[in-house]
Amino acid sequence: MFEHIQAAPADPILGLSDAFRQDTNPNKINLGVGVYKDEQGATPILKSVKQAEERLVDDENTKSYLSIEGEKAYRSAVKALLFGKDHDIIAKNRAHTAHTPGGTGALRVAAEFIKKHLPEATIWVSNPTWANHQAVFQSVGLEVGSYAYYDANAKTLDFESMLASLSQVPEGDVVLFHGCCHNPTGIDPTPAQWQQLAKLASKQGFLPLFDFAYQGFGNGLEEDAIGLRTFLEETPEMLIANSFSKNFGLYNERVGALTIVAETAEQASAAFTQIKRCARTNYSNPPSHGAAVVTEILTDDQLRSLWEMELASMRQRIQEMRTLFVNTLRAKGVEQDFSFISKQQGMFSFSGLTPDQVASLKEDHAIYIVGSGRLNVAGMTKNNMEQLCEAIAAVLS
Ligand code: PMP
Repeated sequence: MFEHIQAAPADPILGLSDAFRQDTNPNKINLGVGVYKDEQGATPILKSVKQAEERLVDDENTKSYLSIEGEKAYRSAVKALLFGKDHDIIAKNRAHTAHTPGGTGALRVAAEFIKKHLPEATIWVSNPTWANHQAVFQSVGLEVGSYAYYDANAKTLDFESMLASLSQVPEGDVVLFHGCCHNPTGIDPTPAQWQQLAKLASKQGFLPLFDFAYQGFGNGLEEDAIGLRTFLEETPEMLIANSFSKNFGLYNERVGALTIVAETAEQASAAFTQIKRCARTNYSNPPSHGAAVVTEILTDDQLRSLWEMELASMRQRIQEMRTLFVNTLRAKGVEQDFSFISKQQGMFSFSGLTPDQVASLKEDHAIYIVGSGRLNVAGMTKNNMEQLCEAIAAVLS
């Protein structure tokens, strides 16, 4: 029965991690997969997470199933983080949150929910976008379209073209926005541009789906929520897929959430029962540990301030690496202007390196970058910067 099955191509990002693992060069550098690294090049467990885990070891008394939607305390904490704890939407019960296995789990449940209940909808993603978006949506049979986003020459947001493409999206379709720290470009709309986009969504009548995987990695926890909060002033309905993989460093615990906002409490409740059905037929109920850690941290003053400090230091280290990268390239005699990298947000930047240059960095210098030229800035350290910039100078010359 299996004889005819051909091997699937390697995942463009996770396949790169496999190749990196197999490389025996002691000076290899991984700027591929989106994982934060500290100054020593490690991906440590946050202190706030360790402390929360110590408490859980003492206090946890069962490994029985969670409910399909997860624990109430977690779901409330997620909503407070997304909307701000005093938001009208929470008071009016217009939002319901389901705990999902990571942000990917949230996107997958959202995809199934859309396919089942908005069967005519096409989903629109930015060009470019995170490599897995298209695959997740197509896997449930959704049509995926793309809207203009990036100006590859100017290395900026092509806002005019973005508006022009989104003005073509018909009523009833779904548009995915990156809440902040756009992956892969590192370029987000400004607050004023978010406002224009929100007004356009309301005029066109499309449903916004926010993918919010990097809250706190851009300008701060509150600041990074500005896009989705601006939309909520204009559009009464929304889906939000958020992830705690990055901002809590809980990558392998698979912790995220899908939140639905509806016009009324009744509509939100009814739609949420359908979201629960999608979860039930997918993974039945979510894994507990990561969400228990997040809840412990978000609901305890001491742990929360420790976490916010740790998050700020991750954010600041990345920013520092952006500046150092630009300056070191210049110091190595690179004439091409890379200053745009220091203006971008979050873990990633589109470097503009060509597929050939990316291949040469891997083959000749043991430096691993996604084929599109996306750099994980969080993989740069003061220790690997000289080697990295020398290699880039070499492939550019
Ligand atoms: N959306 C975007 C834009 C991402 O970059 C990622 C993680 N790379 C995800 C979703 C998925 O997050 P998770 O690892 O929590 O599934």
